[in-house]
Formats: sequence, C-alpha cells, structure tokens
Amino acid sequence: MRIDILTLFPEMCERVYTESILGRAVSAGKLEVYARNIRDYTQDKHNRVDDSPYGGGMGMLMQAQPIYDCYRALCEELGKKPHLIYLSPQGKVLTQRRAKELASYENLALLCGHYEGVDERVLEEIVDEEISIGDYVLTGGELPALVLTDCIARMVDGVLPNEEAYACESHYTGLLEHPQYTKPFAWNGKEVPEVLASGHHANIEKWKREQSLKRTFERRPELLENADLSEKDLRFLKDLGFSAEKNV
Ligand code: SAM
Repeated sequence: MRIDILTLFPEMCERVYTESILGRAVSAGKLEVYARNIRDYTQDKHNRVDDSPYGGGMGMLMQAQPIYDCYRALCEELGKKPHLIYLSPQGKVLTQRRAKELASYENLALLCGHYEGVDERVLEEIVDEEISIGDYVLTGGELPALVLTDCIARMVDGVLPNEEAYACESHYTGLLEHPQYTKPFAWNGKEVPEVLASGHHANIEKWKREQSLKRTFERRPELLENADLSEKDLRFLKDLGFSAEKNV
C-alpha cells in the first residue's frame, strides 16, 4: 500500500512516519508513505499558495491551482488516480471500520488543508471522500492525515506481528478492550486480578470478555447497540442493567 500526503508542511509529516512502529514498517517496505509539498507546484512568482476569500471573511484560503497541479503530478507518477481523501472537519467522522476498509486500498492520497481551508472548486474536482477526526477544528490537516495514516497502517499486512495484535483492541469488535496489567503482580498496594495469573485459559478469556462488556456498558453504552453480542453476553449485560431489546 502507498499513502501520499499532499501538504504545505511535509517535514511535519515526515517526522511522524519515520518514527516508531510506522517508521519501522516504512523502512521494512511493508507500506510506502510520502509527503508532497503543494507549494512546489505554485505558479505564483512569489511562491504564494493562498489568498483572501471572495465575499470577505477572516483569514486566507488555499488556492485551487497548486493543489490541482500537485494532485495531477501524483496521478502521473502513479500512472493512475489514487483514492483522494480531504481531511476536513466537515467530513464523516473516522471510525475503525472505515479505516479497516481503507487499509485494503492500494493507493491513498490525503489532502491537508490549512489556514481557513481550501477553494471549494478544487475539492469538487478531485476529492473522493472527506474524513474528519472529530467534531472540533484544528489549524491544519497534517495531524488528521497522520492520525488516519497511523490508524490505517496498523491494519496493513506485516505492520504489526499478526491480525490479533489489532483485532482484540478497543473498537475493532465494537467493544472497548478489558483492563490490562503487567509486572509486578503487586504495585502500590494493588494486585493484578487473580484470574489473570491462574493459567486457566478459559477463565481468563471469560474474565476478559466480561470486563470488556462491563467497560463498554459503563463508558460508552451506545457502542453496545451495534456490537456483535452473544446470548451469553446479553445475559451478562442484563445483570448490569443493559436493556437487551435495544440490541435486537
Ligand atoms: N474553515 C473550515 C471550516 O470551518 O470547516 C476549517 C478550516 S481548518 C482551520 C484548516 C484545515 O484543517 C482544514 O482545511 C482541514 O484540512 C484541517 N482540519 C481542521 N479540523 C479538522 C478535523 N477535525 N478533521 C480533519 N481535518 C481538520
């Protein structure tokens, strides 16, 4: 898989995808990530890429031409059109499910806006999908593009040791993950739940499932409405006060 980030701040992006798990995956060739500087494509003699909005209003808008030419250059290099995502607070809010679907694409391009945003006409021309990372506004699309890249990359084959490494985490199955503990067994007067050190595989799995259900019910009960729940799960949740009718 290849992800191209179209941005005015490539160094900001490079710093993230060359570090830690993402950095190792890129070095090992498990996925390719590049940042392309939109400013390199401006035709303005002063290297400008933004101007004031028609109709007035605060701040500056990124102009259509440099973004369009940057995108066209990428298409030419790839020999095809990548699926282009504009990171925007007006897009659909990112979910684990959408990230998993996107992890199967061969080519993604992520367009980062800045300042007050982007001239609408270029968005109409090239954008396939708009994604938001939450209902709040940031100064630019770089952090959202990196959030999306990181989230997708974890689910690309070979980036983590195996599917289990991400499939048992919060949100993948629609539930929050159970609490976790490491050594020492006792810390600050608190001990690890006995069952986790028992070596009894079935009891450990039962405990993990129940804690996961309990945690989701207590912290994000609305997630239970779309989670894949067994009869046994529903009986357990009913004892906690969850109304099973909502899940059928
Ligand atoms: N004027 C725009 C509006 O009200 O919808 C907001 C522009 S914002 C200050 C600048 C850029 O940051 C956007 O073009 C977008 O790329 C990015 N951005 C800001 N918040 C975001 C969010 N929650 N999710 C994804 N991208 C975001």
